[in-house]
Amino acid sequence: MIRIEPDAWTVMVDHARTAFPKECCGVMLGSEDADGTRAVSVAIPCRNAYEGDQKDRFLIDPKDQLGADRKAREMGLTVLGFFHSHPNEASYFSATDLKNSWPWYSNVVLSIRDGKFSEAKSFIANDTQTVADPEPLSF
Ligand SMILES: [Zn+2]
Repeated sequence: MIRIEPDAWTVMVDHARTAFPKECCGVMLGSEDADGTRAVSVAIPCRNAYEGDQKDRFLIDPKDQLGADRKAREMGLTVLGFFHSHPNEASYFSATDLKNSWPWYSNVVLSIRDGKFSEAKSFIANDTQTVADPEPLSF
């Protein structure tokens, strides 16, 4: 399961609402317990670098990705996964999301309807990126 701590959650929702009606994206940092429970303590908003209609696509700017990796190392944290928003869509994991994902990482999808937070779910893709199982999420 994955738990988003309040400060990180506020950053994620604010980023998703500000980006509306486009998709936002970002990186989640934190730690993983021995039992596999993940706690996200820091969320890093990133630039959506997708060159096209961003209402249903995102690409994390590689520069922001590198910056997030560096920040994780500096803070002694782990990159646990990524978040993005679905403007006026449910928080499901799309075929494109699956294709662009990596195994192991948590992928939190925030549904934003008319600029307001609606719901969020987290998914983890399998090794062959053919299936992404929902992961229990608390925030
Ligand atoms: Zn998506």
